[in-house]
Amino acid sequence: MSQHAPTDRTRLRRMGHKAAHDKATIHAILDACPVAHVGYVVDGAPHVTPTLQWREGDRVFWHGSAASRFLRAILGTQACLTVTLTDGLVLARSGFEHSISYRSAMLFGPVQAVTDPAEKEARLKEMMDQMFPGRWPQLRPMTAQELKATTILTMPIDEASAKISAEMPDDPPEDRLWPVWAGIVPLETRLGTPEPAPDCPPGLALPQVKFG
Ligand SMILES: Cc1cc2nc3c(=O)[nH]c(=O)nc-3n(C[C@H](O)[C@H](O)[C@H](O)COP(=O)(O)OP(=O)(O)OC[C@H]3O[C@@H](n4cnc5c(N)ncnc54)[C@H](O)[C@@H]3O)c2cc1C
Repeated sequence: MSQHAPTDRTRLRRMGHKAAHDKATIHAILDACPVAHVGYVVDGAPHVTPTLQWREGDRVFWHGSAASRFLRAILGTQACLTVTLTDGLVLARSGFEHSISYRSAMLFGPVQAVTDPAEKEARLKEMMDQMFPGRWPQLRPMTAQELKATTILTMPIDEASAKISAEMPDDPPEDRLWPVWAGIVPLETRLGTPEPAPDCPPGLALPQVKFG
């Protein structure tokens, strides 16, 4: 199915015309930004933790130290994961109408762990392949201890929504002649010039990097 049927949780009430529930849109947002924020509740207290995420098919993954309080607390619970791309600052004629252009995705679901060592290694390789194509075979192979010390968590992309805001300022007609600049100032995140580590020997090929 190419559409996530909106549930009571994922139906947009505010600005419903900015909603999307099709898989292609939600996947594209997840694939364009490896930074996610994961919301969960520990001992009745809400937490939101930023982390790297990657998508494989209809699942999203994230990883970290097996000693991470975050990863241990969230396992087996229901969580909410968001990814946000900011595309522009929207300047209107009044402060009230200022806003931002964005594409965001919000996922709800149960958090499970990837436990099989071979599958864990395959998932970590996939994470690296997505961000640094071709780098995995060049690396010092991962040790069994490193694999054990890494927790990988996953959530299905079942209950999900996207919200996309890409509009010029929506000033009311009586404000439109107000003599102040109005429009969009684009925002972008892009790769800069690689800076070698001080102990990186000269002459080695630069890595391929895919971010966004
Ligand atoms: C970068 C950025 C800046 C924003 N700034 C503001 C701001 O300053 N003030 C403000 O009020 N709002 C802002 N928003 C919009 C905000 O994310 C909410 O959509 C909005 O506040 C309405 O919240 P709600 O709980 O009433 O939405 P509802 O429509 O009641 O939410 C119902 C369901 O819709 C879906 N949904 C809602 N919002 C989003 C979303 N952003 N992405 C994906 N799915 C969503 C979820 O599944 C949610 O459970 C911003 C969004 C982004 C990405």
